Amino acid sequence: MSEPDAALLSLNTATVRTQWSLPQVVAGCLRHGIRGIAPWRDQVAAVGVKDAAARIRDAGLVVSGYCRGGLFPAIDRDGRRAALDDNKRAVDEALAIGARCLVILAGGLPKDRDGTIRSKDLAGAREMVRDGIGEVLEYARPAGMPLAIEPLHPMYAADRACVNTLAQANDLCDELGPGTGIAVDAYHVWWDPRLRQEIARAGAASPSRLLAYHISDWLVPTADLLNDRGMMGDGVIDLPLLRSWLEAAGYRGMHEVEIFSANHWWKRDPDEVLATCRARHRECA
Ligand code: ZN
Repeated sequence: MSEPDAALLSLNTATVRTQWSLPQVVAGCLRHGIRGIAPWRDQVAAVGVKDAAARIRDAGLVVSGYCRGGLFPAIDRDGRRAALDDNKRAVDEALAIGARCLVILAGGLPKDRDGTIRSKDLAGAREMVRDGIGEVLEYARPAGMPLAIEPLHPMYAADRACVNTLAQANDLCDELGPGTGIAVDAYHVWWDPRLRQEIARAGAASPSRLLAYHISDWLVPTADLLNDRGMMGDGVIDLPLLRSWLEAAGYRGMHEVEIFSANHWWKRDPDEVLATCRARHRECA
C-alpha cells in the first residue's frame, strides 16, 4: 500500500488541547510542516473568532473541519430550540474560519437543562437528531457550509451520539439531501462489518458525502471510554486498509489526527506530540 501524502496531514486541536492555546497550535503546525487544522469551538472562543480566523488564514492552513455542532435531543422544546440556535452560531463560526465542513455530533438520549438524561426513548432521540439536522440544514445549506455527520462508537449512544454507524449516517444523508455528508472517524467505525460497503456508498453519492477523515488508534485495553485514544500505530486499527477504502471511494481530503489522551499524549511535550503525529502518519496511516 502506498504511503499517505504528507501534505494531507491535519491536526485536530483536541490532540494538544491541555498543552496549547489555538495560536500555539497554529504556530506548532507551521513548525512541523502540518498543513491542516481542525479547531474546537471553545479554543476558538478563547481567542475570538476573528483573531482565530486571521491566524489560520495567515498561516495558510486548510481547515479540515470545525468541531462541532449537533447535540440535538432535549427533553423539552426550549432545549431543542437552544440547540438549534447554538448550531446556527457554529455554522457562522465555521464560515468565518473557512472550514470545509461543520462536524455534527448527534447527541444521545434526551437531557434536561442540567444535562441529566430524562428519557429512554432511543428511537425518539434519533428522530430528534434527524429533525435537528434538517433545521440546521435550512440555515447551513444556503450559506454553503456542509454538515458532516460523524457516527460515534455505540458506547456513546446514551450520552453523546445515537448515530452510531456509517449506514445510519448514509440513511440520514439520503433523507436530508444536499448539504449533508459524513465525517469518518476511524476510532468510531473501525469495527463495523459493513464499513467498506458504507464508505463506498458515501463516496458514490453525488456529490460525494465523504467530507472528513479522522485518525487515531484503538488501544487494547482501553482505560477510559472518552480520553484514552491511541496514536496511530499503537493500537489495532488497520489504518492503511481503511485509507485504501476511502481512496477507492474517491476521498482526497485531509487525514485529521484526533487524539483524546488524558494519561498519555496530553501529558507530553506538545512538540513531541506533533512530531510523532507526523512520523506515525507516514509510517502507520
Ligand atoms: Zn472525530
